[in-house]
Amino acid sequence: MTELGPPFILRGMGRAALGGALILALSLGAACSGESTVIHDEERASGAGELPATGGSSGGSRVNGGTSGGGVGGSRGGTGGAPTQGGRGGSALGGTTSGVAGRAGGAGRAGGSAGMAGIGGTVPEAGAGGAEDVGPPSNPERDIEHTSLDVALYRYSAVATIRVGPSERPGASFEVGGLSIDSVKIHDAPVAFAVRGQVLDVDVPPANGSTDVSIAYAFAPDARRGWSDAGYTLTWPYFCGYLFPCHSAPSDGTTFELRVAGERSVVYPPKIASEVPSYVAAWVEGDYVQDTLGTTRAGTNLSVYYFRGELGARDGAHTGTARLRDAFEWYEDHLGPYLFGSSVGSVAVEWPSGSYGGMEHHPLWHIAAVSMAEPLTHLHEAAHGWFGDGVRIHCWEDLVLSEGTASYLSVHVLEALGETEAANAAWTNYEDEASVATTGPVWQSTCDEIDVLASSVYSEQTYARGALFYRALEARVGTSLLEDALRQFYGAFQGKSARFEDLLDAVHTTTGYDARQCAANWLVGTTAPSFGPCP
Ligand SMILES: [Zn+2]
Repeated sequence: MTELGPPFILRGMGRAALGGALILALSLGAACSGESTVIHDEERASGAGELPATGGSSGGSRVNGGTSGGGVGGSRGGTGGAPTQGGRGGSALGGTTSGVAGRAGGAGRAGGSAGMAGIGGTVPEAGAGGAEDVGPPSNPERDIEHTSLDVALYRYSAVATIRVGPSERPGASFEVGGLSIDSVKIHDAPVAFAVRGQVLDVDVPPANGSTDVSIAYAFAPDARRGWSDAGYTLTWPYFCGYLFPCHSAPSDGTTFELRVAGERSVVYPPKIASEVPSYVAAWVEGDYVQDTLGTTRAGTNLSVYYFRGELGARDGAHTGTARLRDAFEWYEDHLGPYLFGSSVGSVAVEWPSGSYGGMEHHPLWHIAAVSMAEPLTHLHEAAHGWFGDGVRIHCWEDLVLSEGTASYLSVHVLEALGETEAANAAWTNYEDEASVATTGPVWQSTCDEIDVLASSVYSEQTYARGALFYRALEARVGTSLLEDALRQFYGAFQGKSARFEDLLDAVHTTTGYDARQCAANWLVGTTAPSFGPCP
């Protein structure tokens, strides 16, 4: 792993080969209508926007009394209480974690830093042992169905229109770890809201159908969470609340519409039409060149975006993506239809020094500039269109369903395309990785009981052992049967969340082979088996 911390994902490309990098994923901006991928050149937003206060984190609770313009001081006004990451699971919502985050915020405020009561509002007694809370109800179970973001990058402000699902109970709750909430409206009418710790509670009435909640807010630039002024967003795994109100739990998928105005070219997809985890939405800004890479039989147009004028950027981009169109076509042919439009591609991004790999922001996934010449990185991120994004993980403990499968597919497709030498080198890298003992299992059967960033579930071993498990399974059941099982699984769960157990069920049903013991051998023990077919 790296010293970079949270936002970066390991890619499992092999420490030796890469010199220690990480992965990120991301999507570029396509533009405008439909599915054409466009680089947006929009003028820097002008006007009276101001930088959000950066002092204090979310150490407080504030109830806003429904009149628009309430909360003049901004919800970030609290000076007490460093932000917790929302407890074990990372998410500030859901299960026991909301209590953890809420109390942490309350404690900070109780520590003498109140002063953020909105106009017409009251400050609830949210601290431990405090009096009964008042204000809008908390309802973290209310589903997010669709998220529409209209972002002015250099005003550091945005409006999120979030469609929440039906609920017999009132209220809707969102993670807003780094945001300052200005107003919340339903049908243009202000509604009561409260920021408690890192959670925004809104007084949404009970409803049999969906309700659109419009939230105006400010965000603060941050190199590792949310938006960086260096030109990228980072929200994996549970930092979406630093960019927009959200549910970070990957089980709660949402579709997206994006509109982002910056100073330079902003690259992002105008829409993400199939439900994805919140971390999939992203954008980058910079002086980009877009080169087309061809079209697949299914009609998907591939592109690569790299930085204009950077020494070697074009050569690296074309070296890394030489087989990207072919690989994408193989995925479409063998796994099933791609869900995120017809304009897709790899986008270079300048992450903090030391990071590497990519981030699965389909349909315009991000690749660290230092990894742009690495074919496997592009093929890995592209594979997430099917595993990780197309089918999303249900719990963080299922990370291997996303990363292990994408790691396997990226090498498998090299073999299928006749790139035997590159494939063999990649297998050797994975075997080297897997020869090191892990600190714990890379696959666990609990659900969202871990902090994924602090867990053995998130390590280079997840990539390496996940890929090697599939390779052992392929050696046991045969290539075409394993491909059948992956296609069946994708067909059953596309647009939904799934557990790794569901994948093993699909393997059993399709191939007749029960792979549970083989999966346990590779993914649960601290010492991996030496390579061979599943028993
Ligand atoms: Zn990945």
